[in-house]
Amino acid sequence: MKKKFIIIFMIIMFALTACSIKDGVTSNSGNEQNEQTPEEPIKEEDEETEESEETEESEETEESEEIDPVAAIDLSIEPNELGEIMILMYHGIGPEESVWQRTPENFRKDLEYMYQNKYQMISLNDYAKGEIKTKAGYTPIILTFDDGRQNNFNYIEQDGELIIDPDCAVGILEEFKEKYDDFDVTVSFFLNANPFGQKEYTEQKIKWLVENGYDIGNHTYNHYELELLSSDEIQAEIGSVNNIIKAIIPDYEVETLALPHGSNPKKENLEIMLSGEYEGNKYKTIATLDVGWRPAYSPFDTLIDFNSLYRVTASEINVDNCGIYDYFKSFENGTRERFISDGNPEVVTIPKKHEEYLNMDMVGDRIVNIYE
Ligand SMILES: [Zn+2]
Repeated sequence: MKKKFIIIFMIIMFALTACSIKDGVTSNSGNEQNEQTPEEPIKEEDEETEESEETEESEETEESEEIDPVAAIDLSIEPNELGEIMILMYHGIGPEESVWQRTPENFRKDLEYMYQNKYQMISLNDYAKGEIKTKAGYTPIILTFDDGRQNNFNYIEQDGELIIDPDCAVGILEEFKEKYDDFDVTVSFFLNANPFGQKEYTEQKIKWLVENGYDIGNHTYNHYELELLSSDEIQAEIGSVNNIIKAIIPDYEVETLALPHGSNPKKENLEIMLSGEYEGNKYKTIATLDVGWRPAYSPFDTLIDFNSLYRVTASEINVDNCGIYDYFKSFENGTRERFISDGNPEVVTIPKKHEEYLNMDMVGDRIVNIYE
């Protein structure tokens, strides 16, 4: 009897492996649940003689039970995948605190707060695709830096060696990566004509960022207000930055755009902002960022507009109750609802009261899980 069970078990395992290889082509997540039932077990009495005995006990405990992905979700953490997500807008990191610059100490304070209060950094690209891989019970948060300032990514010489300045944005982010190995550190840098100063290191910096899990976004070549530009000018502004990155990493796709001065293009020029071609290279924009003043909607919310995403200014001064800690506080005291992940990127779990806001186009093939 046991031997028969082992044979069936092996057939099931084989069938499951075959399914997941096939599914792997279109699926982007490692933990999809295969619902397929394996084929009818074939009667294989004749093979009963050849099975090994040494594996019997261990096999028995690993029964091939199907895990229901919805049943596996812990509702006691009150998942809410229609809650808000903050896209934080940083500019400089430097000695003087201002609306457009955070001191290294304050940036460290922000990161520490995020880590201690169950925020987990995700990339803007994943957000725009609805691929939220945040741990169960945690809230995704997106960090963006505009203008490609040298103090975002600065190399300095120390004892004849080139090192990353420990007080520039990248230096501080790397410090946190070391400090907390369960803290997913990623940031999008929105670049203009001259990324991060230090021209001699531009190529090295761009490559280093992409190799180390950071993202590059477009902030246009000259930082003009798009509202004032023609279609051709917009194409050149976006295309030129795209081409700088393409020349360094040909297969990297710059898919996100931060609007200079938060200025949206005229309606008739929206198309050219979203896709175009400039001097031989195509570009495509899947997420466009405004300048401020409130958390963004969940990507699964019907109210989302990926062509004009809200951001929160990562500052504590002159922000009219719309700064980073004002919103952290509102999430804490429940005056606003934060996105709380169910831990499974293939399932979208929401409280019933928000059901009418669920954007099924974004949900796509994911499983919807609504609870009271
Ligand atoms: Zn800017």
